[in-house]
Amino acid sequence: MGLRLYDTFSREKRRFVPLDPNNVRMYVCGPTVYDFAHIGNARPVIVFDVLFRLLRHLYGAEHVTYVRNITDVDDKINERATRDYPGLPLNEAIRKVTDVTDKQFHEDVDALGALRPTIEPRATEHIPEMRALIEKLIAGGFAYVAEDHVLFSPQAMNAANSVLPRYGSLAKRSLDEMIAGARVDVAPYKRDVTDFVLWKPSKPGEPSWPSPAGIKAEGRPGWHIECSAMSWKHLGEQFDIHGGGIDLVFPHHENELAQTCCAFHAGRMAGFWMHNGFLQVEGEKMSKSLGNFVTIRELLADWPGEVLRLNMLKTHYRSPMDWTLKGLDESEKTLDDWYGIAADVPDGSPAESALEPLADDLNTPQMLAALHGLRHNAARNEADRSALAASLRLLGFLGQSAVQWESRKRQASGIDPTKVDALIFDRTAARARKDFKESDRIRDELAAMGVVLKDGKDAEGKPMTTWEIAR
Ligand code: AMP
Ligand code: ZN
Repeated sequence: MGLRLYDTFSREKRRFVPLDPNNVRMYVCGPTVYDFAHIGNARPVIVFDVLFRLLRHLYGAEHVTYVRNITDVDDKINERATRDYPGLPLNEAIRKVTDVTDKQFHEDVDALGALRPTIEPRATEHIPEMRALIEKLIAGGFAYVAEDHVLFSPQAMNAANSVLPRYGSLAKRSLDEMIAGARVDVAPYKRDVTDFVLWKPSKPGEPSWPSPAGIKAEGRPGWHIECSAMSWKHLGEQFDIHGGGIDLVFPHHENELAQTCCAFHAGRMAGFWMHNGFLQVEGEKMSKSLGNFVTIRELLADWPGEVLRLNMLKTHYRSPMDWTLKGLDESEKTLDDWYGIAADVPDGSPAESALEPLADDLNTPQMLAALHGLRHNAARNEADRSALAASLRLLGFLGQSAVQWESRKRQASGIDPTKVDALIFDRTAARARKDFKESDRIRDELAAMGVVLKDGKDAEGKPMTTWEIAR
């Protein structure tokens, strides 16, 4: 079965052929660590986790390298550090902010069932690689020094007339258009309005490192060069897949592509550029001022991580998606059903009918439709049940046993299972002595707590009562 992926650069779905099938390489732009991640940030995490899992399935787990960086140099981090730790020296405060946020991020995405990437490089640990790239760009005539800044010149890139892609070809924008649309208040040290920063001087007290290009003042990198440096260090000059949200196409990815191609005189950086669509909440763009800004952490207080994961995958990754409470409710019901039928089933092979849509540019909605079909037969057919279980595990579901799944829900409901069991014991005793008034009273008491009883028989045919949380 061949994998096909949509490539933003060529604007088409193409057969995926890795540069080296023994080491399939993927880079995804990770979070800037200064605050809790919101549910929009979870979209690339989940989407590229699904792709990572599929690549591991197709090429073997040890033949896939997934790099997702952590951006720990940023103005927003500095602001947060000053605000939260006013008494501390800025660099110490920054380290606190990034460490705490990094930990929160990992707790959140672990709960979403996302595998850890193979490598999670931090920008601040790759300054020498950034300096080396910047030196190459200056030597090649693509970058210049002005007032202690180093700037990249898209004009110089397009004048080079070589194997290089033209600046703007990822975002499908021409330099002329960009010049026409440029802001008027352009920094005076820029030769052209479209030049962008590779390196800049640090303000007093800000994190700073020795500068490249003989600049005396210490400085810090621009955002785009960070990803060019980290992908180079961990994946090489060229690799297979570069991913992130659609908002990153321009300028971030366009600039990464320009830097990397110019530094290595190459026609491409990644074989496939992949971008997830944006997520909005209940029909509106998420924003703090609208009050519909939701963090992953808040959602995890009310829903199991797998419910959030399923809810995300019901929409194709390239489409815009609307995050709703109604969708979450439905996703939870689906998972309850899957856990009931498939959680404790030993693994078989994933169903072809489910793999095929997944390998067709990660068509998860179609894959889920195929799984609902399998589910239909799974009650009667053991092979379908084990194929369903394996397909769900491939997608990152069924991380728990059926008992764990149910007990989590019981905890979340605020119902004390020990108390329920004690009441059921009393009720069983009442029934045994034919005190139906008392047994009915206990049933009503449990119903008032939100507990539904089911009377059945155990394996030996003795009466047995189980319970569920009422919907
Ligand atoms: P940021 O920390 O803002 O750089 O975002 C980290 C990742 O989340 C990037 O890949 C963004 O494209 C992505 N992202 C941010 N907001 C959304 C959203 N509302 N929907 C989908 N992806 C998003
Ligand atoms: Zn990046």
